[in-house]
Amino acid sequence: MARQIDRISLQGSTPGTHREVVIRRYGKAQARPKVYVQASLHADETPALLVAHHLARLLDAAQAAGAIAGEVVLVPYANPIGLNQYVNAEQLGRYELRGGGNFNRNWPDFFPTVAEAVDGKLTDSPAENVALIRAALREALATIAAQPVHNELLSLRLALAREAVDADMVLDLHCDEEALMYLFVTPAHWPQAQGLAADLGCHAVMLAEQSGGASFDEAYSTPWLRLAARFPDHPIPAACLAGTVELRGMADVGDTFAEPDAAALFRTLQRHGAIAGDPGPLPKPLCEATRLDACDSIKAPAAGVLSYPVELGDKVRKGDVIAWLIDPAADDPTAARQPIRAGTDGLVLSRRLHKFALPGVTIAKVVGKETLPEREGAYLLDD
Ligand SMILES: [Zn+2]
Repeated sequence: MARQIDRISLQGSTPGTHREVVIRRYGKAQARPKVYVQASLHADETPALLVAHHLARLLDAAQAAGAIAGEVVLVPYANPIGLNQYVNAEQLGRYELRGGGNFNRNWPDFFPTVAEAVDGKLTDSPAENVALIRAALREALATIAAQPVHNELLSLRLALAREAVDADMVLDLHCDEEALMYLFVTPAHWPQAQGLAADLGCHAVMLAEQSGGASFDEAYSTPWLRLAARFPDHPIPAACLAGTVELRGMADVGDTFAEPDAAALFRTLQRHGAIAGDPGPLPKPLCEATRLDACDSIKAPAAGVLSYPVELGDKVRKGDVIAWLIDPAADDPTAARQPIRAGTDGLVLSRRLHKFALPGVTIAKVVGKETLPEREGAYLLDD
């Protein structure tokens, strides 16, 4: 049996234009586990496009060898709108220029509709509850899809959500600006995600019950956790392991990165039973998981040029200088340098790619172990 390639046309475009999303399908529809992988929802995060290319090659070979045990859906570019957003020769793939905001925020919250739909129908069987909830998730999405689709962004969101909504595993492939490999998952899913983090060689795994931005992955992971809390008398497993993989930094694009990354994802699919075959022993993990609210997301207090005295992967102490912010317009150049300091002990995970900062932009992330008081219960994502 060959893999199937579908091309989904987006609705809501202007006359004379046409965009489509490509969906590569492997294995049998409705076989379990179902794994959904998409690349570059933030369309200018190019590392994911190359990882998806290598993963497609591995999945094609597995399909030809009859080794797909579950169902695997790969979307090699998740955002054809952003992919083509160029302004003055610069690709701008994080926000929709038409006004739809950040492509990875404000995904639908299925929880209220699903909670209402399954109330009174849950049983003592985890498997029955999973099937019931999955059907309710599909129904909740169908209700949204029944509304008029008045723009391409909504059409794109529906096309992607339709594939991911009933998956056992959802991997959303992104990257940071300059960064080491890292992963976001919920605390409840961390036990299931440990192998993924080890296979990918993650230097940080950041856990949050809900980060506040309604990101793509949380649309599928968090309903299960909230349903379990809402219906404590019925067994409801955390049945969708959804995570955001940050494939290092924007400039870390090349086969030397992408080929091993794709192989690591492939082994993860083997470990979760979606693909047959021996993935070999799990590499030693490079990190423990830490809470996202313990990660110091350091902002620029003013505009200026950034110079970093620290490298990615450096261990720093609270109060250490992470960056110098330099005002090139200062009258006295000896007083033009402002130190920006770490707010926690931890690992330098990311830095800004463009070294001219505007006030309020994130210039570095330092992964700490203790929850930072100002981050507790706060909005935890960068916009
Ligand atoms: Zn991203």
